[in-house]
Amino acid sequence: MEISEKTINKFNNYVVQSYGRYPLAMKSGKGRQCVDENDREYIDFGSGIGCNCLGFCDEQWADAVCAQVRTLQHNSNYYYTEIQAKFAEKLCKFTGYEGVFFGNSGAEANECAIKAARKYSFDKYGRGRHNIITLVNSFHGRTMATLSATGQDVFHNYFFPFLEGFINAEANNIADLEAKLDDTVCAVMLEYVQGEGGVNALSQEFTDAVFRMCAERDILVIADEVQTGVGRTGKLLAGEWYGKKADITTLAKGIAGGIPMGACLFNEKTKGVLTAGTHGSTFGGNPIACAGGIAVLDRVMSEGFLSEVNDKASYIRSALEACGAVESTSGLGLMIGITLADGSKNASDAAKKAFDKGLLVLTAKDKIRLLPPLNITYDEIDEGIKILKDILEE
Ligand SMILES: *Cc1c(COP(=O)(O)O)cnc(C)c1O
Repeated sequence: MEISEKTINKFNNYVVQSYGRYPLAMKSGKGRQCVDENDREYIDFGSGIGCNCLGFCDEQWADAVCAQVRTLQHNSNYYYTEIQAKFAEKLCKFTGYEGVFFGNSGAEANECAIKAARKYSFDKYGRGRHNIITLVNSFHGRTMATLSATGQDVFHNYFFPFLEGFINAEANNIADLEAKLDDTVCAVMLEYVQGEGGVNALSQEFTDAVFRMCAERDILVIADEVQTGVGRTGKLLAGEWYGKKADITTLAKGIAGGIPMGACLFNEKTKGVLTAGTHGSTFGGNPIACAGGIAVLDRVMSEGFLSEVNDKASYIRSALEACGAVESTSGLGLMIGITLADGSKNASDAAKKAFDKGLLVLTAKDKIRLLPPLNITYDEIDEGIKILKDILEE
């Protein structure tokens, strides 16, 4: 019996089986490469769904996190810590926001945004203006509110009743959205590039219309940048590509380099909405997560880092587009969707084949999805792309 089988069996005996897992028991990782319990190596083009944005166990990041573990690992939010203040200041200064609430995940960041949007409207207009418009094919998380917000019917099973107050509009359909923006609506929530929904970027025209129509009606725009944020698309926030700054922006996934953290950023208009006692999270803004977050942000904002992300993104995209088996690529920066030319080939089969050859990739709907570490090197890209091309051209 292979060593990893023992782990896999024990795992399946005791951990709830709510995921379809690959038969890989990860032991350790360095850079973009991880090793399983049988000492087989894998190149990771998924970076733990974008969380390990500096790859596995980056030295500077690990030093910062370990130092914090030995200094102060946690305190309740009834007290102050310098490290949370420092991370909040950096995050606000770099993103141009005025204030932040810290949680521990993307769903939690979005819950915070949803509550804040409803309270903003309640404070100003009273009851009845509570609806939030989300887009078809969106993904906002797995908690009850964020599932209710998610605009994909496949998620709306079993857990009835879902939370009221979410209305879906079609992405890139201005007329549909406009028809739904009535006086019951307090916010529109969007992903600039839908991640789980298939790596689809919103059009500039639609995004312009959303922001214009919302501004005219004092409806808030919430940008869910849980997947697109923190340099993933080649800008710190994907909204920068569109020339847009939402009233509320949420971050998670890569924000602390692989430590659980979510952040909800507020502009001048929304910063004061959540007052003492209206929201909280025991672990939110945890010092260890903040140390990881500072290490990530310092790196991502260092001279030349984001322009390299963009160069690498173009490099990967041209390599893929030159491959006959690829019809097209989608997304922005290092958030890459791949549509296969041969309609009979499916993305999840391709992901399984890549796995057998030592390459980890993700899927999103009918596309292969790549979210490689932001600091991946050209040699590592070449190695991964070669495996991918080989299996796609088979
Ligand atoms: C992953 C994701 C979420 C949910 O984040 P969790 O940390 O799993 O709660 C929400 N929104 C988007 C856009 C995501 O990609």
